[in-house]
Amino acid sequence: MADTKLYDILGVSKNASDNEIKKAYYKLAKEYHPDKNPSAGEKFKEISFAYEVLSNAEKRETYDRYGLQGIKEGTGGSGGFPGDIFGDMFGGLFGFGGGFPGMGGMGGGRRGRRRGEDTMHSLRVSLEDLYNGKTAKLQLSKTVICPKCNGRGGKDGATQRCRVCSGRGVKVTLRQLGPGMVQQMQSICSDCRGEGEVINEKDRCKECRGKKVTQQTKILEVHIDKGMKDGQKIPFRGEGDQQPDMEPGDVVIVLQQKEHELFRRSGEDLYCAHSITLTESLCGFQFVLKHLDGRDIIIKHPAGQVVEPGCIKAVMGEGMPKYRNPFEKGNLYVKFEITFPESGFASAEAMKALEKLLPPRPKVELPMGEHVEEVTLSDYDGHANDGGRREAYDEDDDDDHHGPRVQCAHQ
Ligand SMILES: [Zn+2]
Ligand SMILES: [Zn+2]
Repeated sequence: MADTKLYDILGVSKNASDNEIKKAYYKLAKEYHPDKNPSAGEKFKEISFAYEVLSNAEKRETYDRYGLQGIKEGTGGSGGFPGDIFGDMFGGLFGFGGGFPGMGGMGGGRRGRRRGEDTMHSLRVSLEDLYNGKTAKLQLSKTVICPKCNGRGGKDGATQRCRVCSGRGVKVTLRQLGPGMVQQMQSICSDCRGEGEVINEKDRCKECRGKKVTQQTKILEVHIDKGMKDGQKIPFRGEGDQQPDMEPGDVVIVLQQKEHELFRRSGEDLYCAHSITLTESLCGFQFVLKHLDGRDIIIKHPAGQVVEPGCIKAVMGEGMPKYRNPFEKGNLYVKFEITFPESGFASAEAMKALEKLLPPRPKVELPMGEHVEEVTLSDYDGHANDGGRREAYDEDDDDDHHGPRVQCAHQ
């Protein structure tokens, strides 16, 4: 676990004295100085950097405890190392694996101090909210640096290095697995909870009881823009839990759209189902649809333009507003279900009149002979063929959701 790369660069052991480090550095610096050895610029940078860290007691201690990552974060703008060296060092020269025991997650990408984890919260919104936009207030409880002790946990100077782990935050135990085989186990020091330091009971801050952080309630205003989608993330930079010596992560609000009783959304388009009678499907119809912004949309269809069961028609430009471009909208697609009249809806005479209006029925030639048998059709009340009526339109629809959507339900 322990990182010894800087020692390796200078060719000294981890226990080397300050004098040994100095000697090793002078020797190497002479050898690789750009004046003498222009092609070894990178090597010289590494040597200088290693010496800069190891010759400084405080930096050396940080490096011993946390490796390069600790050094990198420790600088946090206070200067000391030129940025380009870090760029080289951390950009791949060393390829170190970040992370050490007892520490929270590492935020990716951002430079500087160690970064806390992002906190995710989901926010339930209606399709109307996503159509019209809305500002929602969200109350969150978050961890903040204790305002009384400014995150020190106690009076100045009350902090002491943990004796159990010598300030390393981890305990190393050896376990004998067999003859000549020893397993080295590392665990977070339980005395200091991995922090490497402890505060005496009597010196602890009364507000946070030495924990350096307290809980606070915070209200976030979440702006839901027109056209936002289910699952869309709205980040609040740096609003995550605060921890001493750590850059707070983000609070990330994840939108969760409630199911709508009429409309289903797919990208920028809206889908709905509408039931019309057989009469309407043949002789034309009109109906009113309440849109997500409260408008009444009147949809008309002329007589003679037959609408078949399952037929889908589009109303252009009446879908969802586009995110960041809300004046443009997707389309609205209406799928038609046809309700047929009940058996016996007309007299035999009326049926004959009706048949005269409808296109002629196909001619069926009945075969003759002894291999011909006439059978009776009876009602069938099973589900075996149920799937056939559900087409691509609602193939990813849950069966469970089928009931409440009245317009959708198959009769
Ligand atoms: Zn405090
Ligand atoms: Zn400890």
